[in-house]
Amino acid sequence: MIRRSAPKKTLRYRLHLLTPQSGAWLVETKKLFNHSAEWYFGVFEAYPDFLNLKSNEVVPTIEKKTHRTKHNPRPKIAPPAEIDALPAYVRRAAIMAALGSAKSFFSNLNQWKDQKEKFEEKARKKKKKLVFRVRPPVPPRVWNRNPSFYQGLYKNFTGKNVMLKLWTGSNWAWVKFGITGREVPDGWSVGSPQAINRNGHWYLHVPIQKDEYEVPKKVEEQRKEKEILICAVDLNIGRNFACCTIQNSDGTILATLYIRGAEALYGRRKRELGRVAVRRSQTGILQPDVQDNQYLWRHIRAMGEYEAHRISRRIVDFAVLHEASVIVFEHLGHFQPHKGKYSVRGNEKRSYWLRGKIVQFSKYKAWNEGKITCRVNPAGTSRFCYWDGTKLVRFTPGQLIVGYTEGAPMVYCPTCHHLENADRHSTRNIGHRFFSPPKPSPKWDGVRPSAHERKLGKRVDVARPTTERGKARTGWHRPARLSPPTVSLVEATPL
Ligand SMILES: [Zn+2]
Repeated sequence: MIRRSAPKKTLRYRLHLLTPQSGAWLVETKKLFNHSAEWYFGVFEAYPDFLNLKSNEVVPTIEKKTHRTKHNPRPKIAPPAEIDALPAYVRRAAIMAALGSAKSFFSNLNQWKDQKEKFEEKARKKKKKLVFRVRPPVPPRVWNRNPSFYQGLYKNFTGKNVMLKLWTGSNWAWVKFGITGREVPDGWSVGSPQAINRNGHWYLHVPIQKDEYEVPKKVEEQRKEKEILICAVDLNIGRNFACCTIQNSDGTILATLYIRGAEALYGRRKRELGRVAVRRSQTGILQPDVQDNQYLWRHIRAMGEYEAHRISRRIVDFAVLHEASVIVFEHLGHFQPHKGKYSVRGNEKRSYWLRGKIVQFSKYKAWNEGKITCRVNPAGTSRFCYWDGTKLVRFTPGQLIVGYTEGAPMVYCPTCHHLENADRHSTRNIGHRFFSPPKPSPKWDGVRPSAHERKLGKRVDVARPTTERGKARTGWHRPARLSPPTVSLVEATPL
């Protein structure tokens, strides 16, 4: 279960070593930290009862049993000298690291024991001699945890520098590092950083948390409130990436935003996919389990990721600007790319993935701003008129206003003569689905014919009561709404 609370994230800083020994000291600190965590893990193994304590009692209890002080000269479990001499917060960090591993190990072990017992009982019932072959979990063989710098182990964190308390191999010393990375945003507070070595470089991972945060109300509660504003979003793969409109509960649009750039991305990505195809044809047989064209694939991935972040950020900013409290998307269906060349199919597939990414990224960005996202049924949102439910005519300006051309920019309603941008019109339907969602079709409570009866020719489609069948199939419920604007563009334009 995801606990929904104040937004948290981690900022990553590159650590710059100001003295030649700093790197070695970081390694020494990590070694000592892992050595201590391993020893405390041993304590949990020897006394598993400690794991049943409340989470805030574990560290004090373990310290009382293992740490030598003036009042407690002979603790029950005497640690080796190097662990006994640890600064208090290093010890606590090591205990916490050991606690995490111990909890995970013992819960795995218990699961394994249960599994074994069940297996043996089954074997006994069947009166067979079966051997349980699943191996039991083992305690961590190698300790490679990253040291946490709790309060008192880091200071002067300015965004340009930081001081860390490190073990030099003989004593503890304050060591200064240069850091580069993002600034801590206003209204967020800093937690205990961790030093992490990746690809030979040291990084400082700093968790931050928003100070003041009001958890937004649930969708069901917000839906009932008639004063709220929503931001309805229609995502596309042609021309516009997204069309967003701010709406109130009676469907009036207060602001519109088009996010463009889809064609440009499509073109750039197609070129890169074409390059992959050409290089693959030159190579001939590809080696199994080895990634080919790594650089090109990384570029393609990065392009998509960048655009998804850019678009989701703009959507959320738009909602924040107009104080909309819910961002409404459509459920994304399973789209199959059209038949065609490798680069065309791959490109289309990635365009569909991108829409999923945009929704995913908007979700957490909106949550950080105290807003929520939700999704509605997409059936018919671009096909039918918002006001009267008539089948729309979709066309390209300058061409005949007939039929439905997939992906064309304009829609026209033959009944109410309303003329509008197709994407903007879809957002009207999306917004309406949010405020008055279609009722779920009644469940079938009859008896389904058996497979044998079906074979004999009994109809199967009785899974839905016949009266509701047509409605449930289209997913379209003709809504009763306000009348459309009295003057539409078509009427206003003299022919
Ligand atoms: Zn109409």
